[in-house]
Amino acid sequence: MANDNKVKQHIPKELRYSMRDFQNEFPNDSACLEYIKNQRWPEGIAPCAKCKCDRKHHRVGNRTAYACDHCGNHIYPLAGTIFEKTSTSLRLWFYAMYLMGSTRCGISAKQVQRETGVTYKTAWRMFKQIRSLLSDGDLQLEGPTVEVDETYFGGVRKFQRGRPMRGDKKKTPIVAIVQRGGKVVARAVPDTTGKRLRKLIRKHVTPGSVIYTDEYYGYFRVSQMQDRLGRRMHYKHFTVKHSDGIYVRDGHIHTNSVEGFWSLVKRGIGGVYHSVSPEYLQTYLDEYTFRYNRRHKGNQQFKAILERASLPAA
Ligand SMILES: [Zn+2]
Repeated sequence: MANDNKVKQHIPKELRYSMRDFQNEFPNDSACLEYIKNQRWPEGIAPCAKCKCDRKHHRVGNRTAYACDHCGNHIYPLAGTIFEKTSTSLRLWFYAMYLMGSTRCGISAKQVQRETGVTYKTAWRMFKQIRSLLSDGDLQLEGPTVEVDETYFGGVRKFQRGRPMRGDKKKTPIVAIVQRGGKVVARAVPDTTGKRLRKLIRKHVTPGSVIYTDEYYGYFRVSQMQDRLGRRMHYKHFTVKHSDGIYVRDGHIHTNSVEGFWSLVKRGIGGVYHSVSPEYLQTYLDEYTFRYNRRHKGNQQFKAILERASLPAA
């Protein structure tokens, strides 16, 4: 907790978003519904299916519907969103998203259960659905310098540096690519073969970038990589000898950025979520990635989650 506060102090005042700000902006369900409606249809101006043109719409009583000012035809801002079929109040959903956007290490369903009185199952389901919106997809890291590393999740010790023994099927490998001073891509993968690693690098790392890894043989051919058309990608590959206890060589040859990301995920999943099944691992990684990629943005984290949640699933 002390650590969390320390981090927040680095966020400029105008980017902070306190609990009080949240309460002022979203005092009740109506305010939340208005927000979602305005995200989708600014000022309530939406195409009316009956009038066949854009019309202003107004709220219909206490319902989650808005009616065309001209013909009365209804539109539903929650249609197609994670809120559509929920019996949980919108404000509680917003609060869960606020918590998710303002933590660094993660929020447990237990904590939300304690604070709001919803059942553990409800809280857990809300987080699961919010998490499902947070993938940064096919993000391309701009370079010029990235670090790539793999770790394993699962088994008795949830995270271990060492690679699993053959036949140890309980462990799920995760690969992270971090742009120094920038964004991260993290993927739960079926294996960490050279082919798999190179495919991820090709997809997410700009040609010509400098790539730092440890000495794992899966990275051996990175500097000779080609794109799909057979053109060289001109990656400059440097390795760090972790096995010798050498973590920084020549000042810049290190993987400290990716280690920093791992420690965030490990602390979070190990300490807050306690256990994660492999099938959900990617969505947890998406949650940590989402926050990491917006770590300097303060209040925009919450608003960025809201933006995703306000729009119908594609
Ligand atoms: Zn109309």
